[in-house]
Amino acid sequence: MNPYQRQSSPVTATGAHNLDPHLHRYAARATGMTASEVRALFAVASRPEVVSLAGGMPNLAALPLDSLSGEIADLVARDGMTALQYGSAHGVPALREQICEVMALEGVYGHPDDLVVTVGSQMALDLVTRIFCDPGDVVLAEGPSYVGALGTFAAYQAEVVHVAMDAEGLVPESLRQAIVAARRAGQRVKFLYTIPNFHNPAGTTLAVARRVEILDICARHGVLVVEDNPYGLLGFDGQTYPALRSMDLDNVIYLGSFSKTFASGLRVGWALAPHAVREKLVLAAEAAALCPPTLNQMIVSRYLTTHDWRGQIKSFQQTYRERRDAMLSALTQYMPAGCEWTDPDGGFFVWLTVPDGVDTKAMLPRAVTARVAYVSGTGFYANGQGNRQMRLSFCYPTPERIHEGVRRLAGVLEGEIDLYRTFGPTSRKSATGPQTPSPNTE
Ligand code: PMP
Repeated sequence: MNPYQRQSSPVTATGAHNLDPHLHRYAARATGMTASEVRALFAVASRPEVVSLAGGMPNLAALPLDSLSGEIADLVARDGMTALQYGSAHGVPALREQICEVMALEGVYGHPDDLVVTVGSQMALDLVTRIFCDPGDVVLAEGPSYVGALGTFAAYQAEVVHVAMDAEGLVPESLRQAIVAARRAGQRVKFLYTIPNFHNPAGTTLAVARRVEILDICARHGVLVVEDNPYGLLGFDGQTYPALRSMDLDNVIYLGSFSKTFASGLRVGWALAPHAVREKLVLAAEAAALCPPTLNQMIVSRYLTTHDWRGQIKSFQQTYRERRDAMLSALTQYMPAGCEWTDPDGGFFVWLTVPDGVDTKAMLPRAVTARVAYVSGTGFYANGQGNRQMRLSFCYPTPERIHEGVRRLAGVLEGEIDLYRTFGPTSRKSATGPQTPSPNTE
C-alpha cells in the first residue's frame, strides 16, 4: 500500500455516514446520471449459457482482420509521426472528404468543411445537446427513442417530450401537436431528435412522404432537426432512403457513424451541420477532447481507400438479414397469442409488445434465469413508459442462438401470462419510473 495514501472515511464532515462522501459536491446535472437497474443483470446476461438478445453490438466476424492488421502496421510505420500526434478538432481532412462520399449514398451532398469528425456519433449527440440545450429546454424525440441519446439529454437536463410513432415511423400530426403544446406551456423547444432509418429500438423506417411533412412542420415552427442515421446503409435489400438532410440543407444536423458499417471500437462518427453550427461544434469538440483520435481516423480513411467497403456493407446486410429472418420466424413459431412485433427491413432491432398484464421490466430477472436476456422497453422512454415492450436485438447471436433465445423467451412469457390470469395485475408489477440506461445496452 502507498504509505502516503490517506485513509478514506465513510463519515462526512457533518458526522453523517455516507456511501459516497462526495455526494454533496455534485452538480445538479449529475443527479440525472444513475446506473441502470438492469446493469447488474448484464453481468449475468453476458455469460455464455445466456442467449443475449439485449446488446446492440455489431457483428465484426466478417471483417478482414488479417489484412486490416497489416494496413494498420504499415500506417504506423509510414505515417506514425502524424497518426500518433494531436490533430485538429475538425477531423482529418482526407477522411472528411471520404465521409462525403459515404453520405452521398443516401443523397446527402455535404461539403467536407461543414463536417466535424467525432468520437462516435454519440459524441456528436453530446456536442449538439451541449451547444443548444439549457436545463429545462425541450427535446422532442420519438417514443421510444435511442437509450444513449436519452442519457445525453438527461445529462444536460433537457426535458424529453416523446412523439408517437407507428409502423411508418414518427407521426407528423403528433409532432405538430407536441410542438404547439410545449409552446403553450411556455417551454422552449430546441430540436427534434429522430432516427428515420431502421430505428433503434423500434425497428421501423420513416415513410418517405412523412419526411417531407416532418421537415415542413419543423421549418414552419422554427424547430431544428437532428437526424441520427447510423443504420441507414444496413437495409436488408440494399435499399436506402433519402436522408432528411438531403431534403433540407439549412435546418438539419445529420449524424453518421462507422460503428455499424465498419468497426464500433474505433469510435469514429461525424456531424454534418449548417456552417455556423459547425463552427460551434468544433469549439465544443475542442473543449471536450481537443481532437478525435488521429490514428483511428487514419485507419478508417485507409480502410475506405484500400478495402472494398461497399462489398463489406453488402456482406453485413446479408448477415443481418439472415438473423432478422431467424428472429421473425422464431417469433411467429413460439410467441403466445397477444404478442405483436415490428418487421424491420434493416438495422439490428425488433420491438416486441406483450399482452396486457405482463411487465417486461419485472420479468427480466426471470428471463435471465431462463437463460435469455432482452432490454425492457422502459429504458427507451424518458418517462417510465414501455413496461409492455421490449427490444430484441438480432445483430450479434447466430440464427441458431436467436431461435433458441426466442423459444426460451416465449416460455417465460407464457408463465407470466398464466400468473396474471391466476392472480391478477398486482402480482408482479415493478415500480416504474425514469430509468437511466446502461451504456452497454445500446
Ligand atoms: N445513435 C443510435 C441510434 C445508435 O443506435 C447508436 C449506437 N448504438 C449511436 C447513435 C451511437 O453510435 P456510435 O457512437 O458508436 O457512433
